[in-house]
Amino acid sequence: MTKKIFLLPFLSLLIIPFMTVSAAAPFDGKLIALDAGHGGSETGAVNATYGVQEKDVNLAVALALRDKLVAAGAQVFMTRTTDETISSRKNRVAAVNDQCIAAGGRKCDVLVSIHHNGNSSSSHDGTLTIYNEKQDVALAKAMHDALLPLTGQDEGYLNGGYGMTVYEHLVSTLTEAYYITDDSEAQQYLAGTRIGEEVDAQFAGLSAYFIAKASGGGKGGGRPH
Ligand SMILES: [Zn+2]
Repeated sequence: MTKKIFLLPFLSLLIIPFMTVSAAAPFDGKLIALDAGHGGSETGAVNATYGVQEKDVNLAVALALRDKLVAAGAQVFMTRTTDETISSRKNRVAAVNDQCIAAGGRKCDVLVSIHHNGNSSSSHDGTLTIYNEKQDVALAKAMHDALLPLTGQDEGYLNGGYGMTVYEHLVSTLTEAYYITDDSEAQQYLAGTRIGEEVDAQFAGLSAYFIAKASGGGKGGGRPH
């Protein structure tokens, strides 16, 4: 009896630190590639009422997300940090992956390509997430679950296979957190509130992904909805 009483607190001392390390610091040493979609002469979607261009929203989110991830211990590599025209999507991903390999001796752990959707209606909103391969499903689902509350309108996480996600066989996803063509979204962007809300959601999604992966989940599988 005395043995059991003594052993339990001792075991918890051993186990608890291992559990809290991965949950408290999921970004330690992670190599994360962020792609701000479009750029330069390629504007992406444009809000007809306010003239807000998708390329600028993508970049603002990517830069702020980078800062938040770096502060949390990740190494972050960007496909662009300015309003730069894409010469080649394939080359952009190859270049960012080369940076991961140079810094960490391995391919990027994840690539998130940040986009915002476009529609001919100025009042259509929703959250959509795209992935390319089976290995991407866990990441896509984690990001989608985190981003969906931004609009509350679920357009699913779907197997699409386009954009940056098709190159270098990286675990990757393309996020369309909301429609920048939606006037209320453009208003929130211009008011300065929307970027921070999305960055928090992107960060939460990545955090959930790495925590699940560290605990043995996040291996993919399942079906998109
Ligand atoms: Zn786009």
